[in-house]
Amino acid sequence: MTTRIEMYGARVRQARILRRMTGKAVLAEMGWRGARQTRLEQAEVTALDADTAARLAEVLRFPLEFFTTPPVSRVAAASLLFRAPKATSATEKEYLAQFAVAVGDFLEELNVRSQLPPVKLPALDRRTGVAAAARAARARMGMDADVPIPYLTYELERAGVAVVMRARRTKSSGELNWASDGAREKHLGYSTRVGEYGDRPLIVLRALDSWERIRWTVAHELGHLLLHADGVNSKDQEEEASRFASELLAPAAAVAEEVPKVVSLHNLVPLKLKWGISLGALLRHLSESGLIDSHRYDMLRRQLYTRINPATGHTWGRTEPGWDARVPEQPRLLAKWVERCFHATSAAMLAPRRLIWPADLLEDFLAGQRPAPSTTPSDNSSIAGTNQRRPALSAAAVPGTIALARGNVVDFDRFRNERRA
Ligand SMILES: [Zn+2]
Repeated sequence: MTTRIEMYGARVRQARILRRMTGKAVLAEMGWRGARQTRLEQAEVTALDADTAARLAEVLRFPLEFFTTPPVSRVAAASLLFRAPKATSATEKEYLAQFAVAVGDFLEELNVRSQLPPVKLPALDRRTGVAAAARAARARMGMDADVPIPYLTYELERAGVAVVMRARRTKSSGELNWASDGAREKHLGYSTRVGEYGDRPLIVLRALDSWERIRWTVAHELGHLLLHADGVNSKDQEEEASRFASELLAPAAAVAEEVPKVVSLHNLVPLKLKWGISLGALLRHLSESGLIDSHRYDMLRRQLYTRINPATGHTWGRTEPGWDARVPEQPRLLAKWVERCFHATSAAMLAPRRLIWPADLLEDFLAGQRPAPSTTPSDNSSIAGTNQRRPALSAAAVPGTIALARGNVVDFDRFRNERRA
């Protein structure tokens, strides 16, 4: 009598999608015909003989235990909180959904071993306005209403929101992502709720290297999580999440007192650095909050997006003044819990634990996480990873100058003069 192994259909499907394989490709590899793969994926459980089960696990490059473990998280592609650009294919949305599911199950595994921070986000009425929502979020997370948020990702993780930063090139699917194949993914991030009861908020970011964009995307996704629990399907909702992001980072009531009488790009830089928000977003925020008039807004916007930053050759809109004044934020919760639960500081160190996920997928989960703080913080250069638990700003905002992370100080006036030349 041969041993039979019960395989969960949802697991087979998940593994195939995460490997970016078509059902046809699996059929061919397995030497199967017809609808066998589809039937396998749609059945709750199918008993396969041990050899076939092992062969399928090999084709999909997942440990056999993955297929025999009941699935926990469920995320439908339609419930991802982002408005997918038209170019996003159904396959791509499925991939993003299954990636979230996999992270969700991994979080459950960690939570069983050591309880994750409880979720501390406000429950909002459907009609809550953006400013009230941002105020409520700050209050629930224990932040004052009128101070800058030095490290937003950390605050969210403390409030129980898991943040994953995907690698530029995923090891698990072997695919080049947005680096050369920008058409596939135009969004900067997405969010959803995972876990057995769908109550763990999860934000998944692309590996962005701009500190402004990371903070703003995290804040934008929090907006979706709080305001659009039922899904995102309109441009209005996108704009709402964006207004929420700016208001969370730089509450208009607090910023109002600091807005110069005659606003220029030059004199907004200190505000940008203080509140940790891009000039592009700040300009729009000031305009929407009635703090600058539409004429000035149009003029400054035009300046930002047409003038060239001589240091980078791009417009100031793309690499703004202060673009390298802060170290980009990185999440830490996942890496921290892996250390806590498994005494591991890398995916490779998880191998002896015989977890149900393949090593390359675990590596993708941990790709963008901030490494453990050094035990001997000998320098205070604020390089990511050497910071203590609550990281600080990397450089002070000095009016008229831009303190660079590398230690240089560049005079913004010099840039302006070069531009005029
Ligand atoms: Zn969005």
